[in-house]
Amino acid sequence: MSDTDWNEYDLATTAVRAGQARTNEGEHSEAIFATSSFVFESAAQAADRFQNKVPGNVYSRFTNPTVRTFEQRLAAMEGGECCVATSSGMAAIMATCVACLTPGDHVLAATGMFGSTTQYFNKYLTRMGNPVDFAQIDNVDDWRNKILPETKMLFLETPTNPLTQLADIRALAQLADEHGALLVVDNCFCTPVLQRPLDLGADIVIHSATKFIDGQGRCVGGAVVGDKQRVGEDVYGFLRSAGPTMSPFNAWVFSKGLETLELRMNRHCQSAAEVARWLEQHPSVSKVYYPGLKNHPQHELCKQQQSDFGGIVSFEVHGGREAAWRVIDSTKLLSITANLGDAKTTITHPATTTHGRISEPERQEAGIGQSLLRLAVGLESPVDIIADLERGLS
Ligand SMILES: *Cc1c(COP(=O)(O)O)cnc(C)c1O
Repeated sequence: MSDTDWNEYDLATTAVRAGQARTNEGEHSEAIFATSSFVFESAAQAADRFQNKVPGNVYSRFTNPTVRTFEQRLAAMEGGECCVATSSGMAAIMATCVACLTPGDHVLAATGMFGSTTQYFNKYLTRMGNPVDFAQIDNVDDWRNKILPETKMLFLETPTNPLTQLADIRALAQLADEHGALLVVDNCFCTPVLQRPLDLGADIVIHSATKFIDGQGRCVGGAVVGDKQRVGEDVYGFLRSAGPTMSPFNAWVFSKGLETLELRMNRHCQSAAEVARWLEQHPSVSKVYYPGLKNHPQHELCKQQQSDFGGIVSFEVHGGREAAWRVIDSTKLLSITANLGDAKTTITHPATTTHGRISEPERQEAGIGQSLLRLAVGLESPVDIIADLERGLS
């Protein structure tokens, strides 16, 4: 089905079927091509392949059939022309920046992004000659005020972790367009099941496949999705020279993850909503952050640009850090870890872990208080997740 137009199919079908190229063995499930290089039929064919005169595999840093299956499946799910798989989510971000920016290009990024992304931008991208500024994620006017003539990229991730603030993708796509800049969206928390940024006007979508795409916390990987020129030529060109490519085994795990992604995302969202509603009425809880709650300031925007509200729920407890830590230490079931997008529910105290390295004033500015806890709601029964939280809250 290699020339199928996947736009004619529902996402659930694309997720199971797109990208598979069966071999002569007739395998039903996707094969793993665990090979670093490929052989040629003759010296002439080798020469032609090396000079790109004829298509075909040469070496797995360039192309690998198992990796290609994952790339084509994810591209179809995001509605993009091309996908390039990378060794991690951070490698996807780095490859996109290096391939799309030249020294002097300015980057305007969202507040509240993944810590390593902020670190990469501040410490390394600036050193490459690309100044970076940050705009308030949920305030389009702030983006408009901070955009410069030399701004070539707007970069964001929505909703943010842990406070679930949203960026208005459509409005920021228009702003980027007016200024001749690219809009890059890290779609890790929503996945194409909940949100398709390219449909809303974004130019490039980034993934950390490590999270919901794997879905069971096994492999590290990433991807870049977009058009043929920027992603298919520019990002791919950087990757084949610089090397942070995805391994065939990881690509196989991620392809199988995509097959069950819609089912899992639906369950993550249902359970997260249930947990959020329960937390909201709990006397020991002072605030709940979840876009599915009617009192979330961007509930309406979320309904417009996402098909559901996601699996991340954060909340504040009365009694500061001591009370927050008590909730964590009273759990018997939940995993005390900062990873997310796993079948197993995780609980974390952002102020002393993911956001522990920034100063107290910076943390307060970011809204990460000592009484804040973050849940990445997994696939266990929500009844048991709630019972586990109740232990430390009562
Ligand atoms: C985890 C994460 C990344 C980085 O992905 P890795 O696979 O860990 O390199 C990037 N963006 C977001 C939103 C993430 O959660």
